[in-house]
Amino acid sequence: MTSAQEKAFAATGCDVRFDNLTRQLFATDASIYQIEPTGVAFPRSAQQASAVIRAAADRNISVTPRGAGTSLVGNAIGEGLIVDFSRYNRQITDLGLEKRTVRVGAGVVLDQLNAFLKPHGFCFGPDVATSSRATLGGMIANNSSGAHVPVYGTTADHVVSTEIVLVDGRILNVGPTHNSLGAEREKIDKLIRTCVAEISERMPPGLLKRWPGYGLERFLRAPDNLNEILAGSEGTLAAIFSAELKISPLPCEKGLGLIFFDSVDEAMEATVELLDLKPAAIEHIDRPLLDQTKSQLHFQAARDLLELDSEPCESILLVEFYEDVAERLSLLQSRRLGLRTKICRDAHEMDLVWSVRKAGLSLLTGCVGAAKPVAFIEDAAVRPAQLPAYVAGLKSIMKPLGLEASYYGHAASGLLHVRPVLDLHSAADLKKFRRVANETSALVRQFKGSLSAEHGVGTARTEYMREQLGDELLGVMREIKHAFDPKNIFNPGKIFEAGSARCADSRTTGQRGVPTKIDNHLRENFTKPLELPFEPRLAFAFKDGSFIGNLEQCNGCGGCRKDTPIMCPTFIATGEEIMSTRGRANIIRAALELRFAVRQHVAAFKSADMSAHSKDPLRSAELDAALSNCLSCKGCTPECPSNVNLALLKAEMLYARHQRDGLPLRERIFSSVDLLGRLGCTMPSFANAIVDLRPVRAIMEKTLGISAKRSLPHYASERFDRWFARHAMEGPAPSGPGRDGARPSKNRGKVILWDDTFVRYHEPHIGRAAVKVLEALDFEVELVKNRKCCGRPAFSQGNLDAAAKAGKHNVDLLNSSGSQLSTNPASPSYGAASNSQLSSTPILFLEPSCWSMFVDDYRELKIDNAEKVAARCFLFEKFIDDLLDREPDALQFKDRPASSGQDRHVNVTIHPHCHAKSLINPAFMARLVERLPGRKAQLLDTGCCGMAGAFGALAEKYQLSVQVAADLLGKIDNQPAGSEIVASGTSCRHQIVDLSNIRPKHMAELLAEAID
Ligand SMILES: Cc1cc2nc3c(=O)[nH]c(=O)nc-3n(C[C@H](O)[C@H](O)[C@H](O)COP(=O)(O)OP(=O)(O)OC[C@H]3O[C@@H](n4cnc5c(N)ncnc54)[C@H](O)[C@@H]3O)c2cc1C
Ligand code: SF4
Ligand code: SF4
Repeated sequence: MTSAQEKAFAATGCDVRFDNLTRQLFATDASIYQIEPTGVAFPRSAQQASAVIRAAADRNISVTPRGAGTSLVGNAIGEGLIVDFSRYNRQITDLGLEKRTVRVGAGVVLDQLNAFLKPHGFCFGPDVATSSRATLGGMIANNSSGAHVPVYGTTADHVVSTEIVLVDGRILNVGPTHNSLGAEREKIDKLIRTCVAEISERMPPGLLKRWPGYGLERFLRAPDNLNEILAGSEGTLAAIFSAELKISPLPCEKGLGLIFFDSVDEAMEATVELLDLKPAAIEHIDRPLLDQTKSQLHFQAARDLLELDSEPCESILLVEFYEDVAERLSLLQSRRLGLRTKICRDAHEMDLVWSVRKAGLSLLTGCVGAAKPVAFIEDAAVRPAQLPAYVAGLKSIMKPLGLEASYYGHAASGLLHVRPVLDLHSAADLKKFRRVANETSALVRQFKGSLSAEHGVGTARTEYMREQLGDELLGVMREIKHAFDPKNIFNPGKIFEAGSARCADSRTTGQRGVPTKIDNHLRENFTKPLELPFEPRLAFAFKDGSFIGNLEQCNGCGGCRKDTPIMCPTFIATGEEIMSTRGRANIIRAALELRFAVRQHVAAFKSADMSAHSKDPLRSAELDAALSNCLSCKGCTPECPSNVNLALLKAEMLYARHQRDGLPLRERIFSSVDLLGRLGCTMPSFANAIVDLRPVRAIMEKTLGISAKRSLPHYASERFDRWFARHAMEGPAPSGPGRDGARPSKNRGKVILWDDTFVRYHEPHIGRAAVKVLEALDFEVELVKNRKCCGRPAFSQGNLDAAAKAGKHNVDLLNSSGSQLSTNPASPSYGAASNSQLSSTPILFLEPSCWSMFVDDYRELKIDNAEKVAARCFLFEKFIDDLLDREPDALQFKDRPASSGQDRHVNVTIHPHCHAKSLINPAFMARLVERLPGRKAQLLDTGCCGMAGAFGALAEKYQLSVQVAADLLGKIDNQPAGSEIVASGTSCRHQIVDLSNIRPKHMAELLAEAID
C-alpha cells in the first residue's frame, strides 16, 4: 500500500488500518486457510462502507466483507481490503411486532438479536451453532441455518430486504418491495430461465438446506427477489450493511427425546424412522465428540445428565419437538429405538444437552495431538432418507486410508459434519486430504446432494464447483457475478476459481495469482511447522503437554468473541479482535512465524544490534499488544472448547523474554509483594502515609508506571500471623452461638489456613473472620511457619523461576513435619503431630488466585509432589459448604437483623473470582449463602473484575481495567438497595472499592458475622 493510497482511504472518514498487527489478525478465520489482507476497514455507516469500497475498487484492490470470521471454509479472508461489519454495525431498530419484522445492522450477533426479541415473545429462527458471535450479515451471506431447519428453513427464508453497498459505492435497498437493480434482475431472470432443466437435474427437490453458489433454484421460485441470489453469495456480489428480517414467535413448548445407540449406522437408520413424527430437529452426536467433553468442567453437568460414564454409547440422537410435545415424545419412546431413551422437559437440562451439540465442532478440534478433525467435507448434505447409504459411502472412502472421523450434525436435514482426523503438517496426510475431498465430491454428486449446505463454498470447495454444478450453471453464476461486480472486486477466488488475484499490492501479499485449491493458502503452521526460539518452562499438563500443542488448539471458531462472561473480558469490554483469545493466539503464532518485521520497534528494547532483531519472535510491538492486555484470568481455559490457555502461553512468552533480556524493575517489584508487605508492616503508619502521598504516587507513576489513580493497599497495624500467635496463646475462643452449649464439641482436628500475602499484611480481619468460623466448627487452626508467597504475583509477571522456587518451598513445607506449623504452644498436640497426620491436613485458602496456584499452576511449573498437596487444598468457602452439606447443623447461624422492608430476605450478591470459576463450579457459593437465615443469594454471571492482580494498577492499563470492570459494576448497580456484596478475590474487592462506594466482603466475613 503506497502512502497516496493510504491517504485516499483515510479521506473516506472510515477507520481503515494497514498496520501489520491488524493484517495478521484478519489473515485467518475459523478455517484451515490463511491469506494476509492489505488492510482492514471498520465502517460505522453505510456511507463510510460505500466510500471505502469505492476507494478500493478504484485502485483495483479486492474487498472481502467480514462478520465475526467464524466461517469454516476460508471465505472471510482475502488478499485485499477486509471490511469488518461486526465492529460497529450492531444496531437493532424498527421492530414491527404486527408485521413480524425487525431491522438489523450487518454486525448484529444472533444471540444479541434473540435476547432483544425474547421479551416480545419472538426469535430469529435459523440457529447457527455459533449464535454467540456469528453476525446476521455473515449468516445472510452464507445463507446459514442450524438444527431447526425443518421448522425455520434457512436464513434466506427470513430476509425481507437488504441494504447493500455495490462495487461502485451505490447504497441500495433490495427486495420485492424495492425497485432497485431492475436491469440486473431482468438479466438474471433471463439467464436462469435458460437453464431450468439443468437446475432440476443438478438440484432436485428434497434437500432442506442450501445449494452451493448462488440461489438459482430459489430465484426461479421468486424472480422478483434479488435477495434469493444475494443470500448465500458469500460476499462475492455486494456488501450487506443492514437487513430487514422476518421474526418468528417463540415456540410455546419444547421437549427433547434422547436416544442412545450402539453405532452410528443404527442412529442413521433411526433418523429415517423418526421423520414422520415431524420433529423440529434431529441432531446426531457421536462418541469422538462426546469423548472430548471428558474432564471438562464446562461439560461435566451435561455428561452427568447423559450418564455417559455409567452407560457409555457410540452415538446419540437429540430429537426435539415444538408442538404436541408430550404426545410425540411418548410416540418416540414407544418406538423403542437404540439402547435407551431419555426424555428432557426441563429447560435447564435441555440447554445442557444443546450446549454439547453447539460446541461440537470446536470440541472435536480440541483433541490432543497434531492430528485434528479437519473441516473440508463437513458441510455436504443429502436427503435425510439417503443418510444410511451416504454414511456407508463415506466410510468406504475413509477405511482404505485408515482414517477416523466423527459423523455429527443435523440428521433431520441430511447434513452430517464429517471431519476426518488428519495431520495437515504431514505430507502423507495432505495427500489423503485431497483424496478424501475428491472422492467425497464425487459421492455427493452421485447422491445429487449439496457439497456445501450451510457453511459456504469459500476456499475449501470452489475447486469442486464445476463438478457439482456443471459448466452451464457455473456459467450462469459467472454472468450473475459479472452483472454485480464486473471488475471482480468482491471476494475474488471464492465460488469461482479464476481471478483469485485482485490485489494491486502483490508486494505485500506475495499471493497474486495463487489459484483457489483446497490445498493452497493453508495456514502457515501446517506447511512450515512452528519452532520455538526458547526452551519451554511449563508443562501444559492439563491437556496438550506442549506450548505449540496448546497454541495450535486455536481453530479460530470465535467462541472467545462472545458478549457474555467469562471469556474473554477484554473483548467484551472493547470489541477489538486483538482483545480476544483468538486474536492473541493468532498474534503469538504470527510472531513465531516471523510475520512481524520489528525494526521500527527495536528502539524500545535495549539491544543496540538493530539488525539482529529485525525479525525476532519475542520482540515486537504486535506481540506486546497481544500479551500485555491479557488479564491472565484463566477464563479461556475452561470455556474455550479447545482449552486454549492464554494465561500459560503468555507466562511462557514473558518468561522467554526475561530469560534473554533480564527481568525489568517493575516486574521484579510486582513479583515481590510479599516482601513489600513484610517491610510495610514493620512501620505501617509511616508506610501508609508514604503510599498515600501525592508526590510519591506521581513519582511512582512516572518511574514505575503505577497509576496514581489507584489506591494502594494499606499495611495492617497488626499482621495476621502475629495476631494469630497472640490468639493462639490466649487459647481458643469461648463458645459463642456457633458453639451452642448443648452441642458436644466434635474436635474436628486440624486445618491449615493459608495466610496469603494480602490477609497477612493488608486485610487481617478476613483471616480473623475465617479463624472464628473454623473454631466455631471445632477445628484446630494452624498457620504455616516460614511459608513463602504462593508465587502468583511472580507467575503473572512471567517470573517463572521465582514462582517455581516459592512453589517448591511451599510444597516441601506442606509435605513435611509439624514443627513448621504455627499453632498454639499451650495445646497438647503442639509439635507432637506426626508427619503423616500433617501431610493429610486440609489446607484452606481465602484468596482464590493463591488456591489456583497450588491446585493448577504448581503442576504446570513441574513442582514435585504438587499433585499430592493439591489434593488437600480447598477454597475456604467450599470447604465450609461441603462440611455443612454433610452436617447441616454444624454451625448455628443467627437470623439477619430485622429489617423494616417488606422482604424478609437480604440480598447477598456474589461475584466469584475468575480463577475459582476456571477450576470449580461456583454454584456452591450461592448455596452456602442461602444456609444463612434471611439471606437470598444472587450469583453474578461475571468474568474478571479487570484488576487482575497488578494489571489494573498499571498506568497504561488503567483505562482498560475500568472498561473491563463496567460489566461487574453495572450488575452490582442493578442489585436491590441494601444488598451485601461478596467478593472473595482481593483484586475484585480492590476494584469495586476503587470504582464505587461499596465495601464488599469476603465470604469469611459474611459467615463470621452470622455466627456472632
Ligand atoms: C464451531 C462452528 C460451528 C458452526 N456451526 C454452524 C451452523 O450450525 N450453521 C451454519 O450455518 N454455520 C455454522 N458455522 C459457520 C459460521 O459460523 C456461520 O456460517 C456464520 O453464519 C458466519 O457468520 P460470521 O459473522 O462469522 O461471518 P464471516 O465468517 O465473517 O463471513 C462469512 C461469509 O459471509 C461474508 N460476509 C460477512 N459479512 C458480510 C456482509 N456484511 N456483507 C456481505 N458479505 C458478508 C464473508 O465474506 C464470508 O464469505 C459454524 C462455524 C463454527 C466455527
Ligand atoms: S481461543 Fe478457543 S474459543 Fe477462541 S477462537 Fe480459539 S479455539 Fe475458538
Ligand atoms: S486469560 Fe482471560 S483475558 Fe487472557 S485471553 Fe484468556 S479469557 Fe482473555
